[in-house]
Amino acid sequence: MNLHEYQARHLLGEFGIPFPAGEVATTPDEARAIAQRLGGGGGGGGPVVVKAQVHSGGRGKAGGVKVAKDAAAAAEHAARILALTINGMPVRKVLVVPAVDIASESYVGVIVDRASQRPVLMVSPAGGVDIEEVAARTPERIHRLTVDPRYGLLAHQATTLGFQLYRELAQVRAAADIMQRLYAAFYGLGASLAEINPLATTTGGEIVALDAKLVIDDNELERRPEIAALRDPAAEAPAEVRARAAGLSFIKLEGSVGCCVNGAGLAMATMDLVKFYGGAPANFLDIGGSSSPQKVVAALEIITDDLAVRAILFNIFGGITRGDDVANGIVQATAQVPLKVPLVIRLTGTNEAEAVAILTAAGFSALTDMDEAVQRAVALAQAPA
Ligand code: GDP
Ligand code: MN
Repeated sequence: MNLHEYQARHLLGEFGIPFPAGEVATTPDEARAIAQRLGGGGGGGGPVVVKAQVHSGGRGKAGGVKVAKDAAAAAEHAARILALTINGMPVRKVLVVPAVDIASESYVGVIVDRASQRPVLMVSPAGGVDIEEVAARTPERIHRLTVDPRYGLLAHQATTLGFQLYRELAQVRAAADIMQRLYAAFYGLGASLAEINPLATTTGGEIVALDAKLVIDDNELERRPEIAALRDPAAEAPAEVRARAAGLSFIKLEGSVGCCVNGAGLAMATMDLVKFYGGAPANFLDIGGSSSPQKVVAALEIITDDLAVRAILFNIFGGITRGDDVANGIVQATAQVPLKVPLVIRLTGTNEAEAVAILTAAGFSALTDMDEAVQRAVALAQAPA
């Protein structure tokens, strides 16, 4: 689950990470009032930064982060930013924070690393808006440390990383302290990513966190209701909100082959095979072990709403799930949801012969071979309209 910056800085603030004070506005007038109160220059009214609160990186580049010299300018920037859509997400809230005079920007983040199956701390003296580019072009400027979760991030490790960012001992210590707190927050909040970019040095030599990103592992939410309550469905992709309500695991991707699969492992294998045969999956979708027609209907609605989908591929392995039940589910669902693109169905396992008979009778091409079905779906998705 993604959190907004204002939520992330609140949670990280509870772990002792220093952020400038800030408040959220939903209108230009509210932004003006906050700037009046919190703006720099002693006694408020001075410069502030107005920041779009959307689940998307690169807000700065998209015009979603603006420095305003006073409260009137803050209201103007807020009006403009609240009218923006950034990477498909309409901006509904802005964060208003006192502006800081930045001397330099670093990057500090913790992620779960697949290769080592451990948390990895990443730091770079080249922080700011383009850490992806630093990683791609000058990877030697990103320093990593694999953390042993039994011990956490130890003081001497954090200090060593601090020296990758700063020369002055007080700054090294301040950065090391922030790293240890960030790691503690990452671990304590059940995050899969915790990031501060920029970790800024002010012209006065202080070190402050100016941006925060937290992604919470969905599997942690059940035992952390107070974090689950921070979910903002209005800021999420509508398809993902619908999929969650229907009990489907769904992740939107960029390709044109809509995939509807039972079981997460098979869903991933299906996506691999789509890629292998030169196509691109439009989504990951696991309808789960049941053959409930309601789930199939919801899945089909979500997939057919995606205008990038040029062909739909069902890949069903009947185990305890009976193939004929699934086939009936597909027939019922497609009767309710009119299809605008071709559908390829591969179905095997329990009661496969009955299932293929039901589907063929309903006019679908039902296959039992996975390679054949995937190749056909890829070809249909790539055929000229
Ligand atoms: P992102 O683009 O979504 O990562 O948004 P950030 O919150 O990281 O802001 C982008 C950039 O805006 C930062 O890297 C800074 O260069 C700049 N910025 C953010 N806050 C301040 C501030 O208080 N003062 C100044 N001068 N620049 C800021
Ligand atoms: Mn940032």
